[in-house]
Parts: sequence; structure tokens; C-alpha cells
Amino acid sequence: MLKKVKTVTIKADLCNGCRACEIVCSAFHASPPFSSVNPARSRIRIIRYPLSDIWMPVFAGEYTPAECMGRDKYVLDGKVYEECAFCRAVCPSRDAFKEPDSGLPLRCDMCEGEGEPWCVKKCLNHVLVVEEREEEAADQIYPQELEVGVESLVNRYGLGKIQDAVARRSTRG
Ligand code: SF4
Ligand code: SF4
Repeated sequence: MLKKVKTVTIKADLCNGCRACEIVCSAFHASPPFSSVNPARSRIRIIRYPLSDIWMPVFAGEYTPAECMGRDKYVLDGKVYEECAFCRAVCPSRDAFKEPDSGLPLRCDMCEGEGEPWCVKKCLNHVLVVEEREEEAADQIYPQELEVGVESLVNRYGLGKIQDAVARRSTRG
């Protein structure tokens, strides 16, 4: 069965590093929404090397409990990007995409599916562009798969932090 999937394409060459996307994402995900701003809570981060004229928006992706092997530097248009520059993973190697208070992983949720995502709306340089495509519906999620995921989070962060995060989400309604 086909389903519509919304994604955001990044036109990195247009980015000037203004960080409006980080600010509005963190504000939308504050509790209650728009009550505070903290870019460390954003699900989009700008990888910045101003002296090399590098500004690279990266969306938070999957949590992974292990660092990857075999990293490489990338050279594109004469610019050198560090090994993790394009990576969306929330991994033990770095602090990106971790909730600053609890250390829990953050992930882009497309603004909970509400219309046009906030980062897209507030990027005045049109770096971020929504695209819709059709793809095969994902396989059914089995309860035991969810248990494995929850267990790995509990092992990593402890039950208390997981409960705190769930409680915070449930108060947002
Ligand atoms: S709002 Fe747009 S131009 Fe500004 S940092 Fe984000 S992606 Fe780049
Ligand atoms: S789509 Fe929404 S949740 Fe994802 S990075 Fe943009 S503002 Fe944040």
C-alpha cells in the first residue's frame, strides 16, 4: 500500500547560518509551545565553520547506541567537511540532538505533522523545501520491537529520565 511521505530537502548553498530554524524549532517544542527558546533543544542544527564559509543544516534522525566505524572527511566544492558533518544520528560520539536536561535523544517529528514545518516557514533564504512523495507503507511494528527500543533507552539513560521525558510530553497535550 502506498502512503504519502513529507520530507524536507536542504539547499545548503543558500544557508547563511542565521539559525532562525534552530530557534523556532526549540520554541515549538518547548512546554508549553513557544514559552521558551533554547537552540540546544532544536531538532535541526546548523553545523558551522564560519572561517571556511560552511553552514550545513542537519535534521535529527535515529538514536543509535553505538558509534559508527570507518569515518571519512568529505571535500565538496573545495570545502572540507568533518567526519560527522552530514550525520543525522543521535550517537555517543557527540552532544548534538540530545535534550540538554535529560540527555534523551531528540528527533525531528516534522512539527507533529502540523501543516508546513516551522523551520521551513521561518527560513527566509528558502534553504528548506518541503517535498511530498509516495512510498510503500512501512512494515507493521511488532510490540517486541518496541520493547527492544524502550529497553535500550532505559539501559542508556535510566528509567527515571525516560519517565520524566514521557511525563513532559504528556503535559503538552
Ligand atoms: S533558517 Fe535557513 S538560512 Fe537560517 S540557518 Fe536555518 S537553514 Fe540556514
Ligand atoms: S520540521 Fe519541525 S521538528 Fe523538524 S527540525 Fe523543522 S521545526 Fe524542528
